[in-house]
Amino acid sequence: MSVTVVGSIAFDAVTTPFGSRERMLGGSAVHFALAASFFDTVNVVGPVGDDFGEDEYAVLRTREVNTDGVEHVRGGKTFFWRGEYGWDLNDRRTLDTQLGVFENYVPKLSETSRSAEVLFLANIQPDLQREVRAQCADARFAALDSMNLWIETTRESLIETIAGVDCLMLNDAELRQLTREPNLVRAARQIREWGPRVVVAKQGEYGAAMITDEGFFALPAFPLETVVDPTGAGDCFAGGFMGYIAAHRDGDPDHDLLRRAMAYGTALASFNVEEFGVERVTRLTTDEIVERVAELQQITQFVGKPIALRE
Ligand code: AMP
Repeated sequence: MSVTVVGSIAFDAVTTPFGSRERMLGGSAVHFALAASFFDTVNVVGPVGDDFGEDEYAVLRTREVNTDGVEHVRGGKTFFWRGEYGWDLNDRRTLDTQLGVFENYVPKLSETSRSAEVLFLANIQPDLQREVRAQCADARFAALDSMNLWIETTRESLIETIAGVDCLMLNDAELRQLTREPNLVRAARQIREWGPRVVVAKQGEYGAAMITDEGFFALPAFPLETVVDPTGAGDCFAGGFMGYIAAHRDGDPDHDLLRRAMAYGTALASFNVEEFGVERVTRLTTDEIVERVAELQQITQFVGKPIALRE
């Protein structure tokens, strides 16, 4: 069994208060794939240009990510994104986006990519996401991420795409912007009326919340003393979350399984932000993940009987 992800495969230029990188491997599909690879086989689908070379493939292959779905467009340039963060790392500014090979991209999935049980439509143009969703008709759990750019420019297409997935994952500001509803609980109800039965609101350094028909669940972000670069945290969260679901093959994920998936997503995202780009996750070990999930469990539970309160 496996997970298929379609999304950007990119070169990123990033500046944070703690340093900068002029050109590093990034993209929503890449961050997702590296995180999900700790749970199951991952098929990456997306285009790259002539500037994408062996060094970049090697990063994916060291985690045994299946790159057969990476389409090399001769004469093309790989997607490029430049972003900048200030002291508030939840607040990011996009300085440049060059679609490059994404401009005329039409996804054509191989039999292997199409037959994955779990599908993640990472952040790309919603029409492309819908195209891929249609090709993976048998996926038992499909989730989607997006961003303000698509909410602003292709909202109707995005809503149509959302209708075809089981789970929507967005930043809470994006959820509000998409639904035009300031209250998160009501925004999630609106989205569930459109189709998905699970809504995950990513809240950056404050963690993530999940709303399903069975109720509400939230986890804080893992408390770190050093956060260097938040780029890709949302995709690593999704990689841990979807990877955990893929690794549990017993039908439709219920609320309890989804809660545990949130913990793995939170753990993977926390490693990602410790260094620039994919630097930390490419060195990550399974023991480190296990230890962090255990610590997260420890810091998010409390014991003891309720006391009698004064009337
Ligand atoms: P995240 O921090 O999880 O939201 O994801 C950051 C990644 O998204 C970066 O590695 C970028 O390459 C990628 N990205 C930025 N803008 C876009 C866009 N418009 N479409 C697709 N991917 C993007």
